Amino acid sequence: MPRKPFIAGNWKMNTTGRSAVELAATLARSIGSLDAVDLAVCPPFVYLPAVKAALAGSRIALGAQDVFHEDDGAFTGEVSTEMLKDVGCRYVIIGHSERRHVLGETDEMINRKIIKAMAAGLDMIFCVGELLEERKSGLTMDVVSRQVKIGLEGVAASDAGRLTIAYEPVWAIGTGVNATPEQAQEVHAMIRQLLAGRFTATVADRTRIQYGGSVKPSNAAELLRQEDVDGALVGGASLKAADFEAIARAAL
Ligand code: PEP
Repeated sequence: MPRKPFIAGNWKMNTTGRSAVELAATLARSIGSLDAVDLAVCPPFVYLPAVKAALAGSRIALGAQDVFHEDDGAFTGEVSTEMLKDVGCRYVIIGHSERRHVLGETDEMINRKIIKAMAAGLDMIFCVGELLEERKSGLTMDVVSRQVKIGLEGVAASDAGRLTIAYEPVWAIGTGVNATPEQAQEVHAMIRQLLAGRFTATVADRTRIQYGGSVKPSNAAELLRQEDVDGALVGGASLKAADFEAIARAAL
């Protein structure tokens, strides 16, 4: 079953209020009317409303980079699903490797966030991926399947339409060294098999699996040509309008 490509930009802790709005407005003009590819940008929390306004009238969706798994209360610094919806987010990234490895998020915490985002009606980009030592030790498939299995515990097949998975090998994020198309395809195919076992073959066929890790204009087309690579989660290159546009067009 053909899946519509999905390219998302993760701006991480970058941009200022002004540069975020400029970037969003430039993208809205250049690629905001593309309809053969789904597009989203994920700015820092504080710039979500301004970026939403700058995207108005375009088809580019708004996403957040994280969310907390409780509704409200004494959770200083955290942001809830309702808050994200309130400022116009359609997507939320959950389980990014920097949340896992810099901020200490566990598979169980990520699962709670996924359950909460599903219940709230947010679409999510659920990130998985192995460390370099894990790849070198031949543990890639074990690590990624553990992350997928625990992350999706308790998720109903009827909610799986909200799910995009991003395979992001940690050694490829922000390093300039991307996984080869073959390495990406191998893991994506395994994830799709896991989804078929966990849900149904139809859910597995429909679920988009993005690749993330040093995607740039020069490598995007080859990665996106792989059968099970349905899009990209783009960090560094999403901060340059021309590069993000080139990656979006490579998906067409
Ligand atoms: C990311 O932030 O998810 C990412 C893949 O970053 P980069 O494209 O810079 O490697």
